[in-house]
Amino acid sequence: MSAAPDRYAVVGNPVSHSKSPLIHRLFAAQSGRNIAYEALPASATGFEKLVEEFFRGGGAGLNVTVPFKQRAWAMCQRLSANAARSRAVNTLYRQDGELCGANTDGIGLVRDIRDNHGIGIEGRRVLLLGAGGAIRGVLPALEEQAPACLSICNRSAERAARLCKDFAGSVSAASVQELRGRQFDLIVNGTSSGLQGELPAVDERWLAKGCCCYDMVYGEAATPFQRWARESGAATALDGLGMLVEQAAESFRIWLGVTAETAAVIRRLRERG
Ligand code: NDP
Repeated sequence: MSAAPDRYAVVGNPVSHSKSPLIHRLFAAQSGRNIAYEALPASATGFEKLVEEFFRGGGAGLNVTVPFKQRAWAMCQRLSANAARSRAVNTLYRQDGELCGANTDGIGLVRDIRDNHGIGIEGRRVLLLGAGGAIRGVLPALEEQAPACLSICNRSAERAARLCKDFAGSVSAASVQELRGRQFDLIVNGTSSGLQGELPAVDERWLAKGCCCYDMVYGEAATPFQRWARESGAATALDGLGMLVEQAAESFRIWLGVTAETAAVIRRLRERG
């Protein structure tokens, strides 16, 4: 009889739209691994209990998505450098009896923009929309790319200010009004507004010539932010599917020590619509 597969899952709310189960199954098929990977919805009050029960029941690894990444960080006994700096965790596993947390979102975003799309970040003016777990998660990797500036604009100014305090020296927060007259080479939408079919507050005058607009959200059709970017004259308007596959590949590498073939998986997901 073959051994039961190791269990993995993504926890979030909402999570039913997640493509992570399919992506990890494709990675497993590529490398001949026998894993089970499911999507687990957690209630606002039930996240910590669900994580504890998953690992107590023998689960091998969890991905964490909106809106629990900062709560996952708070649960960990051991953190990777990126996760410690960002105070957000999207990859959980147990080692030597301790709950360990890593953050692969930043590596995923940089690999997609820089390697898959050939768009450099070094020396570029970067604007990030949002101040939640996803933006926190990508900041350490973006800092490493040495952009000319990293500006944050968030609906709640208080949350943006807290984030700036944690990234003192490299990140500055500004309101839409304060950004009047500024231009950017890369604008990343890291708000969850697209999940509700909405557009965050934006200004087309932010787009420098050749500007790349990147939405971390992805869907079958163009997202509201992508549509806005195209209508406003952005040179490139990308969705977050490539980032999703790249961050998943880094989680897979952490859990199983296997480097996945991401290009084939991105192609497959685009073909399926
Ligand atoms: P959080 O819940 O931690 O943060 C949500 C952020 O979105 C906050 O900054 C919030 O602003 C803002 N926001 C929510 N609704 C609106 C709105 N209607 N208008 C303007 N701003 C809004 O979520 P995460 O940071 O974890 O995730 C954000 C998004 O990024 C999600 O959609 C997620 O799916 C996506 N993502 C994609 C990844 C990928 O691999 N492609 C990886 C990680 C995340 P406020 O502070 O004012 O509430």
